[in-house]
Amino acid sequence: MNSSSFYPKLERALSLRGTSVEDICPSDDPVARRVLHDYGAMFVGADTVALPPCCVFTSEDQVASFQKEAGLAAATFGDAVVELQPAAMSALLQARAVARAQGLEISPRDGAEAARRSYADTVRLWNSRFSPALDHWTRAGRLTETQAERLRGLPVQKQVAEVLELEQEGIFFSQDLSKSVLYSIAAPGTSQHIAMLAFDAIEFLDPRVREVLEQNGWFQTVLSDLPHFTFLGLAEEELPGRGLKRTEVGGQTFWIPDVA
Ligand SMILES: [Zn+2]
Repeated sequence: MNSSSFYPKLERALSLRGTSVEDICPSDDPVARRVLHDYGAMFVGADTVALPPCCVFTSEDQVASFQKEAGLAAATFGDAVVELQPAAMSALLQARAVARAQGLEISPRDGAEAARRSYADTVRLWNSRFSPALDHWTRAGRLTETQAERLRGLPVQKQVAEVLELEQEGIFFSQDLSKSVLYSIAAPGTSQHIAMLAFDAIEFLDPRVREVLEQNGWFQTVLSDLPHFTFLGLAEEELPGRGLKRTEVGGQTFWIPDVA
């Protein structure tokens, strides 16, 4: 795992900020490491962005204090007021201006939720996948009522750990029950939306829109989360040097942590 190119680059990026991989994402925490592999691209972005102090936030207070410190820029998109870190917002507005000049639009998917989210938002989204999937697998006979009841009663971080274990056995918790829940939504407290470095765009299928976003530092970095863009604040040619690898899926380009 550590022989891949992502970890050395990440370690270097974090040391410049006075922190380390072990500080933000302890190696003995399987959920944190999984999160780092799936969403970690944001940690090697430009130094114009503030990085979360941890891979997994565990309370609303912790999220609120990070968001306040990072700074919050708001802008109106149609009916929605969306909020992002200032550098991310100014790049997004720039991208939208360029898109509009070409007769295109960049709009938030699901309103304000397309950008900044609170800790409670991520818990609510978790439950929107966790509860129906639990019901499904109980009906399907893969989990007993007792197992389901025990899972429901666990603290949310423990639920995540156990769900990831069940997924190893093919008991998936994504919306369509065919893949890991982490491809469907982020685990509570872990979203790039909490970091205010993510924007879900309605127009993600349009290659011209993706290109405009990319030229303004916004890249797709989470496999299978198609409408989701991450602000890295970098040019595409800088990304391999940050430990990210280019991956093509369904004609779309993703830049994901290069971990073995
Ligand atoms: Zn998203």
